[in-house]
Order: sequence, then C-alpha cells, then structure tokens
Amino acid sequence: MAIGVTMDWISGELELAFKEENCPICVLLDEAEERFFFWFALEGIGDGATRDALAARGETFCRRHARRLIEAVKESGRLLSASTIARELTERVLCSLTDVSHPLRHKRGDVASFPVTAGCTACQSLDEREANLISIFVYNIADPDFVERYKRSFGLCLSHRAMAIATAGSKKIKKSIVSIEVDKLQELSFALEEAIRKSRVEFSHEPKGAEMNAWQQALLKLSVYKSSNFGRGG
Ligand SMILES: [Zn+2]
Ligand SMILES: [Zn+2]
Repeated sequence: MAIGVTMDWISGELELAFKEENCPICVLLDEAEERFFFWFALEGIGDGATRDALAARGETFCRRHARRLIEAVKESGRLLSASTIARELTERVLCSLTDVSHPLRHKRGDVASFPVTAGCTACQSLDEREANLISIFVYNIADPDFVERYKRSFGLCLSHRAMAIATAGSKKIKKSIVSIEVDKLQELSFALEEAIRKSRVEFSHEPKGAEMNAWQQALLKLSVYKSSNFGRGG
C-alpha cells in the first residue's frame, strides 16, 4: 500500500476514533492489540516462521500479554500450537542458562548479568503502531477539519498527549495541542465542580446531567497507556 494511501487510511481511523469517549490513540491501540492476539492465537503460534522470528529476536511476552495470549489460545482452541511455542520458549531460556558458551552471556559463566529477554513481541508490535499513529495524528494537526474534530472529541490521554507534543516538529503544532488539551481539562474541571456542587443536599433538587459522569472521563483522560510511560513528562 502506498504511503499516501496508508496515511489517508490511518487518518480516517483516527477520525472515527474521535467519536469514542476515550483517547483515539488508546482506542486504536486496543483494537490493534485485539487483532494481534486474534491473529497470533489462530495463526502466528502455528507458523514456524513466526516462531523462528520471535526466537531470533530473543522475544517473549510481558505479563499482561502472556495473560492475554492465554485467553486468546483458550478462545481459539490451538492448544497444541500453544504447547509447541511454550516448549520452544522454555528450551531457549533453559539453553541460555545452562550453555556456558551461549552468545547472550556477557562473559563466560556470568549468570547474574544475563539479559532476561529482548522484550515482549506484542509490546514491540504495539509500540510501532503507537509511533505510527502519533506521527499521523501530529501531521494532521495542519488540517483545520481534523483540528475541529479533535476539539469536539475526548482528546488525548496523558501518555499520548506527551508523545504527540514530543513528536510535533513545530512550536505552532505543539501550542495547538496544548491549547486544545487545556480547554478540555478546563471543561472537565468545571464539570467536576458542578457534579460536586449538585451532590450537596442544598442543591440536590437541580437537574443532573453529563457532569455526573465527569469523574469517569477524568480518570480515563488522566491515565497513562502503560506504566512504563510514567515519568515521561506530561
Ligand atoms: Zn491514549
Ligand atoms: Zn507486552
């Protein structure tokens, strides 16, 4: 697929994701994660080339994705393939611990300095998708129609706001993102204030609206996509 077509496709996905009450990058990453495990549990684990590539890169799964894979395998019923990949992983780690000449050892016999693994294969795939989504999001900030849809949306979570600002090439784009996100947080802060006020006995007769759910929006908006994002700024 040509780069322009891919960009148009992803821009369209982002605009659709703006309709959700959630960060559009988080929405698309959750979908990508679902697709990854659907494919991996159905085809990836039964495919020798996929398993060889995983072994060649020295990858395994983080705890969250190991649990997700277990669920996906139970749904797909590919238990034999799951046992095969689990045996290969076990053999690989066993070999790296018992073979004193293993290339992953920093020096012969030095077990303590052993690298645990090269990373989680699902996280690597999602990190690539995340970087791609962020760069196309930032690129689209030059388009006034896209900005209008962004303004009317939920906006970005803490992780993706920080990543978008870090990726933006110009001060003008950084300022646009900050200004939209400040407006969103001010709206949220006002809604929370209203919800707190209307919860008081003396104002409890007043009609209640969307502000009563603002606490859920705030918790979602002020969350980070993964715990390794903590400390990246925000
Ligand atoms: Zn997000
Ligand atoms: Zn992972």
